Amino acid sequence: MNLWVQSIEGEGSTFSFTIRMQKSDTTSFAEALKDTKQGVKAAIDKLYRKRVLLVEDNDMNQELAIDLLEAKGLIVILAENGQEALDILQSKEFDLVLMDIQMPVMDGYEATRKIREQDRFKDLPVLSMTANVMSGDRDKAREVGMDDTIAKPIVPQDMFITMAKWV
Ligand code: MN
Repeated sequence: MNLWVQSIEGEGSTFSFTIRMQKSDTTSFAEALKDTKQGVKAAIDKLYRKRVLLVEDNDMNQELAIDLLEAKGLIVILAENGQEALDILQSKEFDLVLMDIQMPVMDGYEATRKIREQDRFKDLPVLSMTANVMSGDRDKAREVGMDDTIAKPIVPQDMFITMAKWV
């Protein structure tokens, strides 16, 4: 693994890394898509009319994600925290859950843990949305049963490709 850090006084640090991973069906699918226009289009086609539970407490992030997803024909239901997400999951079917981490009432880790405790949700894709992809969040996200991570700030084409891997 290669890891490097770039620090700018007063602005913070950027951590970068490369890592070799075992190939699986999902990673080769993502590789096939890459960042090409066709790849993004294929991802968006695959997501059309899919039902997404967006779990996010921040107004601006809610609005941004809903706009991006609805513009591509996805059906979005909003939950403002983990507990609300669990309640909504009792009565509605979803193809995928987008889960913020830090939320009032119940955070994304606990909500995911409680989702995974229920057998009928064992195959429901749960993707975290986090700005802190290097601070151990990815490990913790995997540990509680999240399938993948979408980095904030959201890069639309990356988000669509990652989501398409899991639906
Ligand atoms: Mn939050």
